[in-house]
Amino acid sequence: MSKILLSQQEIKSIVSKMAKKIQVDYQNKELVVIAILKGATLFMADLIRHLDLNLYCDFLRISSYGDCMVPGKLRLEFDLTQPVSNKHVLILEDIVDSGQTVDFVYQHLSNKSVASIKFACLLAKEKYHGRKVDYIGKVIPNQFVVGYGMDYQGLYRNLPRIEIME
Ligand code: 5GP
Ligand code: MG
Repeated sequence: MSKILLSQQEIKSIVSKMAKKIQVDYQNKELVVIAILKGATLFMADLIRHLDLNLYCDFLRISSYGDCMVPGKLRLEFDLTQPVSNKHVLILEDIVDSGQTVDFVYQHLSNKSVASIKFACLLAKEKYHGRKVDYIGKVIPNQFVVGYGMDYQGLYRNLPRIEIME
């Protein structure tokens, strides 16, 4: 029913490789790392443990009026708990598909006078051709995946690997 796309070991190496770049790019900068709930929580937990930086964590929850395989219009369900003005902001997303979520978050933060804003996603679908994502862990086929934070109808977030739903 499902096929393994990335093993625990492969995810670990993608995350640590990305962390090395982030570590260099944010050296001596104060950083706010923002995970998009709920999917990016495991990614955040693993990524930030590689970062030797002064960083704050916060969360945003965006929900869709559609279901999880056919997204609808987006709305902000849960906002940041701390001001981000003059802060360097790094947004973490589990997976970028159409890029609609990334665009929505970018718009939401665009009037908050941040020092800088960047996006990091663990995965991006092949069909994504936007330019807003600065760090992409791995480009994957245009298929629906679960595990490592990503769900299907609320389930499978706890899988330690990433599987393709068939
Ligand atoms: P986008 O807004 O880029 O079209 O989609 C991004 C959001 O849709 C992600 O934050 C994620 O929650 C969800 N999503 C997109 N593709 C997948 C997928 O293959 N599997 C799961 N579980 N969620 C996905
Ligand atoms: Mg999501």
